[in-house]
Amino acid sequence: MNLILLGAPGAGKGTQATKISERYGLVHISTGDIFRANIKNGTTIGMLAKSYIDRGELVPDEVTVAIVKDRLTWDDCANGFLLDGFPRNLFQAQELDKFAEIDGVVNINIDFGLLMDRLCGRRVCKECGESYHVSMLNGKTTCERCGGELYQRKDDNPETVESRLKVYTEQTAPLIDYYTEKGKILNFTGTEAPAEVLFEEVKAVLDKLKR
Ligand code: ADP
Ligand code: ZN
Repeated sequence: MNLILLGAPGAGKGTQATKISERYGLVHISTGDIFRANIKNGTTIGMLAKSYIDRGELVPDEVTVAIVKDRLTWDDCANGFLLDGFPRNLFQAQELDKFAEIDGVVNINIDFGLLMDRLCGRRVCKECGESYHVSMLNGKTTCERCGGELYQRKDDNPETVESRLKVYTEQTAPLIDYYTEKGKILNFTGTEAPAEVLFEEVKAVLDKLKR
């Protein structure tokens, strides 16, 4: 099963991605994670990507598409993959159609009003990527799942979030129509409820889609 996870920044894609890929044995491919790993390792791609990410803009398509195209040729993708954060505009979606077969697009709709606070208060585990809201941590600085250290992403600040939300509205949201027309969209509503609640709904739909 090959899936795409679609949703605004802060909609809870990362948490659902972990749960979905575990349950269905899919490789979790997050372009954001790939870029952050490249930045950490000081690669050429990392140096290029950093300036865009820090401003909340999209990394150029030719770079991003090439990374995903290559990643999908790895053996581990043969049993299915979950794309998290890709495609993010129409061009990327059209390119993806040329080298991959997609079975479904999990689209998480969320009230935009929640996102600024969610993102600016987000703390992420350095080890496993789990995210938390600072208001729930009671001063704790380590991950409940794995004990890893929590940090705040550099792009989780008001100015950059503003720009990321604008990019989402203008460039990514049109993909909802794109995949609806292809009969691939699976719509869900993200809420303030724990991620498990949303995952139950996702599971019910994906169990039927499974092939
Ligand atoms: P979020 O969904 O919370 O904004 P991501 O980790 O998916 O976070 O992405 C972080 C940043 O990485 C984006 O703001 C963008 O700059 C870059 N990025 C990630 N995926 C893509 C993509 N498919 N195309 C272009 N840039 C991307
Ligand atoms: Zn962790």
